[in-house]
Amino acid sequence: MRTQDKLKSLVRVIDKRQVITDPAEMLVYEMDAAFERGKPDAVVFPKSAEEISRLVKWAGEHHVPIIARGAGTGLSGGAVAEHGGIIVEFSNFNRVLEFDTLGRSVVCQVGVVNQSLDTLVKTKGLYYPPDPASGRSATIGGNIAENAGGPHCFKYGVTSNYVTGLQVVLADGRIVQLGGRAVDYPEYDLTGLMTGSEGTLGLITKMYARLIRNPLGVKTMMAAFDSVESAGRAVSAVIAAGLVPATMEMLDQNIMRIVEDFTHIGLPVRAGAMLIIEVDGYVGGLDAQINEVIEVLKQHGAFDLRVAQTAEERDQIWYGRKSAAGAFARIAPEKLTVDCTVPRSQIADTLRAINEICTRLDLRVGYIMHAGDGNLHPNIPYSPQNRDEVTRGWQACEEIMRAAVVRDGSITGEHGVGIEKREWMAFMCDGAELATMWDVKQVFDPQGILNPGKIFPSAMPEVIRVAPSANVPSDIFVPTTAHEAAAGLAALSLAHKKVSINIERNGAVMLSTHALNGIFKYAPEDLYITVGAGMTLEEIQTFLSKGAYHVPLASPWREMTIGGIIATNLNSPQRMRYGAVRDVMLCANVALTDGRLMRAGRPVVKNVAGYDLPKVFVGSYGTLGLLTDVTLKIVPMPRAKRTLLVPIDNLKDALTLGGRLLQVALVASARVLVKGVAVDGVSTPYVLAYTAEGYPQDVEAELNDARQVLMDTKVIEVASPSGTDLWLELLRNASPESMVVRVGVAPKYVMSFVSTQSSVLDRGTYLIDFASGLTYAVASMKNANDAKTWLDSLRQPALALGGYAVVMQMPDEWRGVIDPWGYRPDAIDVMQKLKAKWDAARILGVREFLV
Ligand SMILES: Cc1cc2nc3c(=O)[nH]c(=O)nc-3n(C[C@H](O)[C@H](O)[C@H](O)COP(=O)(O)OP(=O)(O)OC[C@H]3O[C@@H](n4cnc5c(N)ncnc54)[C@H](O)[C@@H]3O)c2cc1C
Repeated sequence: MRTQDKLKSLVRVIDKRQVITDPAEMLVYEMDAAFERGKPDAVVFPKSAEEISRLVKWAGEHHVPIIARGAGTGLSGGAVAEHGGIIVEFSNFNRVLEFDTLGRSVVCQVGVVNQSLDTLVKTKGLYYPPDPASGRSATIGGNIAENAGGPHCFKYGVTSNYVTGLQVVLADGRIVQLGGRAVDYPEYDLTGLMTGSEGTLGLITKMYARLIRNPLGVKTMMAAFDSVESAGRAVSAVIAAGLVPATMEMLDQNIMRIVEDFTHIGLPVRAGAMLIIEVDGYVGGLDAQINEVIEVLKQHGAFDLRVAQTAEERDQIWYGRKSAAGAFARIAPEKLTVDCTVPRSQIADTLRAINEICTRLDLRVGYIMHAGDGNLHPNIPYSPQNRDEVTRGWQACEEIMRAAVVRDGSITGEHGVGIEKREWMAFMCDGAELATMWDVKQVFDPQGILNPGKIFPSAMPEVIRVAPSANVPSDIFVPTTAHEAAAGLAALSLAHKKVSINIERNGAVMLSTHALNGIFKYAPEDLYITVGAGMTLEEIQTFLSKGAYHVPLASPWREMTIGGIIATNLNSPQRMRYGAVRDVMLCANVALTDGRLMRAGRPVVKNVAGYDLPKVFVGSYGTLGLLTDVTLKIVPMPRAKRTLLVPIDNLKDALTLGGRLLQVALVASARVLVKGVAVDGVSTPYVLAYTAEGYPQDVEAELNDARQVLMDTKVIEVASPSGTDLWLELLRNASPESMVVRVGVAPKYVMSFVSTQSSVLDRGTYLIDFASGLTYAVASMKNANDAKTWLDSLRQPALALGGYAVVMQMPDEWRGVIDPWGYRPDAIDVMQKLKAKWDAARILGVREFLV
């Protein structure tokens, strides 16, 4: 049946006033901000997730493509109906549903415009950092689907660093919730997979996101350099000095000249490049921060330095950067805006290569760069009438992609793959990685109705599998290389032998990762380290401490490997400042049980080429594959770190003060309350700990604000223990016979949860991580039944609040009586299907997780 005929039955699922089919009216929906075109058969304006659900079911029955569309500002053809079908337009999803200023979170529909959301949260002193330059029109849905970033990514990260949950309509029409208001749900990180999936895995209808405090001041400067190379070196030097500006943007001479001809704002056009650097934080610390940046820049050849003294001067500095797109229109009717990312130490070399490409192909090029992130935008002006120039332009794009890939970069840092870059995916990803992404697509959308044709190349590269080892490992398997691990796993899978990673289990082969050990790459200039998954965190930190860096993760157990920390998603309170495991792990090599040895992700902070595979292995308890080596973000040791300890006699006061302290936190790395953990010099039952770290003046300013909140209370200021140290202490002290439980609820509920469950919690010791809504409870129980009753008294109220309570530790023999998870994710079937794709014989993770 022709789609036009099928459309007649569409009115049965959606009001015809919400549908347009007139070709003239649909003209505007034929393209996004890129070049590709496609005619939709209809454009639909649903008003609820239920309407979308009916629509998707209808589309499934009639095999009609469904293409989600936000504002259509995408730059890779993602929202284009290439194969016809129905465009789902989200402008009716324009409400902010919840804005929680205390717990710093927001729930909104996906048609909300990025900048409107940020403007709203700023009215209460909060900040939603993902800030694409298209933020005045791009929607939250489009931002999630493209994992949008912006100039402030270097310090604050991209969309996926803020999204804690999603409501999604799946390809079968089901409305499911992934993640939610709490953090670290016991489920595969499908929220992470959905973020950046370009409308190919589901239609996102609602976002749950965390917010941070809006910095109180900002200082902006610009500096000129002889060449892009010296500007690039200056960026690395700023990072090496332990400074963390909010943005570091670079413009090269060509762009400056084009912009200056248009704006006449006095850009240093004789210079080879200029940097725009912005620092933010407490007002009192800004001058010191910017002066330090200036010192470093001068040492690296900066001249014509200009620091904005007023808001107008700041706007003027940014005006140059923001005028680039408009200025190009004066020199050519069109331009190709290329987008790729490389490790930032490779910027200068990549630019040299791109210049060479463009010179050879007789093309002009000018660069705008998010230099702090290694995200480059070569802009190539051209005339569409000049067919030869168009061909050369695309040839240049292709060669630029290869140039990024050979430098371990990504073919897209923020614009997505869509139609434009799908054939180039095979430059970057080998057969195993692409096939693993395709598995994800098959699991979510087996019929291929969601945004068909996007992301994947027309011809998939061959999948090369490691052959199963001749001997099937028995009892203990200790691979020394990733290849050996993959071969052994393949053999075990064929033999249907159960495998348990680093844990002894009756009837299972124990796979020990301790020989997957070593520092494979240490790249301080790019702020990452690649290590064997069998290394302990302590070994990694000891190595890094020599260069005054660290991985912002913590583990109470010395013997725990980094692979174990990732697989169990072990997050300490310092995530408040540095992010969680999912934010710290950039990429990994993973051995699947069918012999695939797959590289997931790249060692760059911005990479939106295909699905974000590394995320799904975080918190998967080794049930999907074996991490053989991992690349982690590293951060400089904080210049200052101080903790305020507040001894308190009663819980009510402790919770009240804990809540009030959240209003202060900007550079805080922990805000916790402990009961029953011994702290030197404190004899009260409760101790509140507030740790601030980072730039010394910021730390001092923040602690002064915190002292105001704590004015009538005794406060002890210490260098240690920090809030994270207390968390380590609580868990380290838990005897092997005791039960350790982690309860997650929305941060706004954590105080009422603890208050109403205090008698249950009082059976043992506990710690509340206010900012994350997490409570860690440790108690010794008489027997499994007693433990079960205790656990249930925490679990039921947590579930009622949309949270969960999971067991982190208990005596092994209680496993038959106690369900460690007590939680059923909405998309458990999707999890099971993923497991079936990657571990068909179900050999991995005996009793370890929900699947
Ligand atoms: C001038 C300009 C500057 C830009 N600057 C930046 C920048 O700094 N950083 C950056 O990251 N990007 C930037 N972009 C690219 C673009 O704006 C972003 O990708 C943005 O997130 C797209 O949002 P949108 O609402 O316009 O989405 P659309 O363009 O409408 O859609 C983009 C993709 O998302 C999918 N999608 C949309 N809504 C949903 C939904 N509800 N559920 C599932 N899938 C959905 C679509 O199918 C499509 O694949 C820029 C674009 C322009 C034109």
